[in-house]
Order: sequence, then C-alpha cells, then structure tokens
Amino acid sequence: MHIPLIDLQAQYRSLKPRIDAAALRVLESGRYVLGPEVAAFESEFAAYCGTRHAVGLNSGTSALHLALLACGVGPGDEVITVPFTFVATVAAIEYTGARPVLVDVDPGTLNMDSSRVAAAITERTKAIVPVHLHGRLADVELSTGIAREHGLVVVEDAAQAHGAEHRGRKAGSFGAAGCFSFYPGKNLGAAGEGGAVVTDDDGLAARVRLLRDWGAEHKYHHVLRGYNYRLEELQAAILRVKLAEMERWTEARRTLARRYRDLLAGTDVRLPAHAAGRTHVYHVFSIRHPERDSLAAALARQGVGTGIHYPLPVHLQPGYAGLGYGAGDFPIAEQAAAEVLSLPLYPELRVDQLETVAQAVERACEAAPARSPAPAG
Ligand SMILES: *Cc1c(COP(=O)(O)O)cnc(C)c1O
Repeated sequence: MHIPLIDLQAQYRSLKPRIDAAALRVLESGRYVLGPEVAAFESEFAAYCGTRHAVGLNSGTSALHLALLACGVGPGDEVITVPFTFVATVAAIEYTGARPVLVDVDPGTLNMDSSRVAAAITERTKAIVPVHLHGRLADVELSTGIAREHGLVVVEDAAQAHGAEHRGRKAGSFGAAGCFSFYPGKNLGAAGEGGAVVTDDDGLAARVRLLRDWGAEHKYHHVLRGYNYRLEELQAAILRVKLAEMERWTEARRTLARRYRDLLAGTDVRLPAHAAGRTHVYHVFSIRHPERDSLAAALARQGVGTGIHYPLPVHLQPGYAGLGYGAGDFPIAEQAAAEVLSLPLYPELRVDQLETVAQAVERACEAAPARSPAPAG
C-alpha cells in the first residue's frame, strides 16, 4: 500500500461533477480572464476571510509582490521577514526593489520570533511580513503592535493558512493586507496557479486591482506601471466550488491531526507545538526528529510518502547568497530545516491510512537509533 503525502486526484474525484460543470460553464462562456467568476470568487473569498476586499491574482507570489507595492514598498526600503519559509516570501520583497531583512523563528512554533523584530528595525524599515508557516497562525498581534509603534505596515504571508483563526479573526485580516496562494496543493487550491490579496483598505485594494492588470484604469490607459497578474475564470470557477468545502476540509484536517497526536504521543518524534488560542489549519503536519533523513527513508520503504518543508532556509539557498547571510546566522531555522518532516495529511486521507502511517513512524523510530548511532550534526 502506498500512502502519498498529498492526493489531489482523491480531492478531484470527491467533487468531480461540480468541478466539471464549473469548468464547462467557463469554457462555453467565452470569458476566460477577469470576468464574472473572478468577481464572484473575490466576494466569496473576502467573506470567508472577513475582509472588505479580495483581489484575485495569478499566484501567491504575485499577491505578495503587489501587496507590498500597494503599501508603497520599493527601492531603498527594508522589509523584515523570516528565513524559514518558501522562497517566494523573500523573492517577492526583492521584486519590489526593497531589501529583505531576516529574523530567526521561534523554536516552538517555527513562525517569526516577534521578540527579535524590534532589533531588526532601522530607519529604512517599511514593512513586516510574518508567514503563517505550515498553517499555524503567526504572532500577528505582536507584529502589528510593533508595526504600529514604528509606523510600519504588516503584510501577512497567509499562503499556507486559509481559514486559520485567532479570537474570531481569520488569517489575512490582521495586517494591512493578507496574501494567499491557490497553488494546487494549498488548502484551497486551483487546477493550476492562483492567488489573492485580501484587505479592508479600499485604496490598497484599488491599487492591487490596477497593478494586476497593467495599471490600466480603462483598456489601454495605463495610470501605473503594472503587471499581467490576472486570475483566470477557469481557476476562479473551480476555486468557488472548493471554497464551499473549506470549513469541512479544515475540520477534517484538524481531526486527522488530533489522531496523529494521539498515536505518536509515545514516540520520540516532536509533534507540532500548540500555540495558545491560535488555530492551526494543518497545511502540513510537520513533525521533528534529529534523524530526519533516516526516518524519511524508513517511511519510504514502508510505502509512506513524506515531504520536507523546508530542507534549506532561504538564507542558505545558493540563489540567495546575495542576501549577505551565512550558515550560523539563524540557528533555529537551520536546526528546524534539518529536523522537520511532513506526514501525509489531507481531508480525503482515511483513518486507516493515517493509522498505517503512525505505525510506520513508530517502527521507524524504534529502528532509527540502531541504524544511525552517530550523534546528529
Ligand atoms: C506557496 C507559497 C507562496 C507562493 O505562492 P505561489 O502561488 O506558489 O506563487 C508564498 N509563500 C508561502 C509561505 C507559500 O507556501
């Protein structure tokens, strides 16, 4: 039996008649980019996030880029974010011409350690970009508090955290803007690329709308230097079908995560930390183990797919050597990168499959020390 890390075919099969109908409706409509499906999805997604606006875009990366631009971030500015994230967070900051300034993560939550932010602020700092890693809400209240104090904006990277809540407010609604990805494997995924910026700020939403479509106020009248970051009708129509399932899917992810916690409690894997009051939507269920690579290999031999989110922090990526950081600069991120391992978790995962995974982890843990007696590192 093979249990994959994620099973997008199972998701499609569970909604096939509705997804097929939505796709055919678009194909027959003759409207393929920024039409009625995008508009409807935008209002439904804004309602889901509890924000006044959602602007549909062609990726989460575009969402980060345009949210930062719309907040006035540009050359000469500094933007504070974390090294333990998908590379797009840092790349989008560089796209604006600003310089990414990294701060290490909290050893428990692996999200931005807000207590390190104040020391990273200079007179050039313009924005803070917390990342809700793995689906767990970052400490947005502290970062918005610091931001207010220093006159900065917070742009949330909520690409992994659709629906994560704190005190009744959803990811994306805490900062000046929230950025989402609808890459297929995300908790809300298109049949291709997609993204969105959500915000309560009318002006910011209007600027993102202009920037995504060549800065054109009317066709061929360009009031800003913009981009082609438009969302397709096909993706919006499919996203609308899936958005209606999000409450149920998130609940399913949480139920499965609780089951993993129960079953793995006796093993020597470190389970994802609980952060008081902050909900986790389990984009991935990421455990930690000092012998991560042998654990992953043992699971693979037992037919269990795993993933690593992420094996190298951004500051150690060869392509980002130009940031000016090196090994040892962010020890908590570096250790996390060496230890994290994501187990299969998606709403369609059956409990018997989850139990098989948990048993495989248990067996692998028992065998791991015998196979690799050398200390980690
Ligand atoms: C997926 C992701 C992005 C980028 O989204 P794309 O839609 O792939 O461009 C940005 N940040 C994080 C944390 C992500 O997981």
